[in-house]
Amino acid sequence: MKPNYINGAFTDGVSSRPNINPSNTNDVIADYAQADAEQTRMAIDAASAAFPAWASGNLQARSDMLDRIGTEILARQDELGRLLSREEGKTLPEGIGEVARAGNIFKFFAAEVLRQRGERIGSVRSGIDIEITREPVGVVGIITPWNFPMAIPAWKIAPALAYGNTVVFKPAEMVPGSAWALAEIISRSGIPAGVFNLVIGPGRQVGQTIIDDPRVNAVTFTGSTSTGRNILAGTSQRLAKAQLEMGGKNPLVILDDADLEVAVNTAVQGSYYSTGQRCTASSRLVVQKGIYNRFVAEVAKCLAALKVDDALKPGTDIGPVVDESQLEQDLHYIATGQKEGARLVCGGERVTRENPGFYLTPAFFADATNDMTIAREEIFGPVACAIPVDSYEEALELANQTEFGLSAGICTTSLKYATHFKRHSQAGMVMVNVATAGVDYHVPFGGRKGSSLGSREQGSYAAEFFTTVKTAYTAA
Ligand code: NAD
Repeated sequence: MKPNYINGAFTDGVSSRPNINPSNTNDVIADYAQADAEQTRMAIDAASAAFPAWASGNLQARSDMLDRIGTEILARQDELGRLLSREEGKTLPEGIGEVARAGNIFKFFAAEVLRQRGERIGSVRSGIDIEITREPVGVVGIITPWNFPMAIPAWKIAPALAYGNTVVFKPAEMVPGSAWALAEIISRSGIPAGVFNLVIGPGRQVGQTIIDDPRVNAVTFTGSTSTGRNILAGTSQRLAKAQLEMGGKNPLVILDDADLEVAVNTAVQGSYYSTGQRCTASSRLVVQKGIYNRFVAEVAKCLAALKVDDALKPGTDIGPVVDESQLEQDLHYIATGQKEGARLVCGGERVTRENPGFYLTPAFFADATNDMTIAREEIFGPVACAIPVDSYEEALELANQTEFGLSAGICTTSLKYATHFKRHSQAGMVMVNVATAGVDYHVPFGGRKGSSLGSREQGSYAAEFFTTVKTAYTAA
């Protein structure tokens, strides 16, 4: 059994669970520990006890530890990328790319440790000095989803540690392998016992214990909107800080003046790569009528050429869906799209490959309307729909007509429309002639409306969540 990591020691769980490869369900990667509430509380005990010394510890040493973690992740990116793709199902190049991103995030925050900021300013009263500083929040609970098993943990753990917090990390049940590998690297970085703890286990038990424990000062979560609501209910009850990154139903607008090739590549890449299992996936393609027929035909042609197969096989473009229940959910949405009158242009079929896995051909709907279920609800699979519109104004209105607001894109050669869209899109991230999914690691990430709550993640903006501001007055 691959154990949990609590208070500087690898500790067996109360039970274990097999980690299954979605490209080949005969392939069990390993058995991973399952913690219960009691073990989770032990991890919180350790993180609480370790906090004061870590918060006031030597900055050079802290920076060096984060740098060592980043260096090892980058050095092992091929091997770790293989593990990631094997357990999650994204293709090997995507898996390696994600691991490299995680390594770079640790490197970024190793440097961020040294970018200490503060202000000393005058008072409106005579004879008073004011200092404004940032301090760590305390114990941070980190709860992550399955679709980015290495990058999302990295972009929460690295800033939490960099700004002087201690961590209790609970990864998603389906992807303990990447989380465990990350914990093992962190355990060898010289980090003191208790500063970082890994507890693998079910959300309802391990996650809920983290949310409810009064010693956890802040909870950062990425996952579905319904779980986010539950987390907020718990943290708000005890007035703990919370950061929620949740679902998306991201629009990509294609205007008549778009470069067709750019539009098709942007749509296919943003909607279907990583099997469409990205919170930033462009699942609504809002297309102006002058280019609509050509766009639909070209996307269909491009999708037909994509190879759906084992994530680790060279040449695979689209790996499997993550598991049986997600695949059933995708098929249910595809049936609903047909029932509600959208035209299934291609894909949407469960297919078999050499090994048993959860393979689904990319489903592309045309002639959808924005009020259909497939245009309103997050599917989180390789399913997208094209919605025809008459004008830019109608496209913008439909793009914003959603309960979500994570990422939004436009394909156009017009500076006027690109500029207007950047200003008026109600999303946290806006893309012009670039896919809605795929972002940099050194700039803020996050959304609006039902997609996000709390301050932004990544880059120096992460300080907003992982620190608290102190204003000190001194009689001069
Ligand atoms: P999920 O909400 O089912 O699970 C996310 C995490 O929450 C898991 O670790 C799970 O164990 C835990 N959890 C579940 N119930 C819990 C509870 N009652 N208390 C505490 N923790 C609990 O999400 P998922 O299926 O793993 O991931 C897919 C979702 O994540 C999609 O909706 C996707 O859009 C979203 N996502 C968002 C972003 C973003 O940055 N906005 C990024 C990636 C994924």
